[in-house]
Amino acid sequence: MSYRGRIAPTPTGFLHLGHGRTFYTAWQRARDVGGAIVLRVEDLDPQRCKPEFVEGLLEDLRWMGVDWCEGPLYQSQRREHYLSAWQRLKESGWIYPCLRSRKELRNVSLAPHDDEEAAEPLYPPAWRPGVEAAKSYASPEGATWRFRVPDGEPIHFSDVQKGPQCLVAGQDFGDFVVWRRDDVPAYELAVVVDDIANAISEVVRGEDLLKSTARQWLLYRALGASAPAWCHLPLVCDVEGRRLAKRHDSLSMKTLREQGRRFEDCLAELEAQQP
Ligand code: GLU
Repeated sequence: MSYRGRIAPTPTGFLHLGHGRTFYTAWQRARDVGGAIVLRVEDLDPQRCKPEFVEGLLEDLRWMGVDWCEGPLYQSQRREHYLSAWQRLKESGWIYPCLRSRKELRNVSLAPHDDEEAAEPLYPPAWRPGVEAAKSYASPEGATWRFRVPDGEPIHFSDVQKGPQCLVAGQDFGDFVVWRRDDVPAYELAVVVDDIANAISEVVRGEDLLKSTARQWLLYRALGASAPAWCHLPLVCDVEGRRLAKRHDSLSMKTLREQGRRFEDCLAELEAQQP
């Protein structure tokens, strides 16, 4: 199979050099083997995604000298594909409607070894409704939809850089959202539907998404598709050792290109300051 990679920015802010490094690595890995790159704009969230950020990221890619063979594809235009995956998952009993509030979930205890900053409580299995609950829904509207994870199952996958990985469903992560209460398909579902539709053979992204990879592995299986290879890159820090975020705009690619800097130089400086 020929190599197909993708660049998948979310236009909720100006992108920083850490995003740039991920996209550049994805592009380089495709180029090195004569493969293809698809550009996919992950603009599903109508509240947070803005046209100026889409403009900004297209400029960033030009500045980086990165090109692509297909796209840009816009997730906001692909709702029917996510709906048919929702339908399929619903019919096969993998997902269920959840009517609990975020507050209720926040009040349950944290996962025992989940010490990350953004730790989210595991969805209590006792809150899962019976399989009948999904039947009365002809569309996802009116509920949050969650994936029923196979409690205790170890999810094994291999990372091109980091080697074999294993996360346990129901311990490292719980029932995750595939469709949001505001009727927007969730990231985990949309990304898998699109990576399947675009025949992506390798996903290059930051290692903050390792847990998502285990969730997505379950979605590939539930949708009867084979999973791609994964290459998770270490997260980039600034000089003070803090993770870059869209909200710190000193290292936004927009700022750097407007200062007349060259991408290669900025990237080399950034690499040099990593621990
Ligand atoms: N749009 C996602 C992000 O910016 C990409 C995640 C992925 O590569 O799967 O974090």
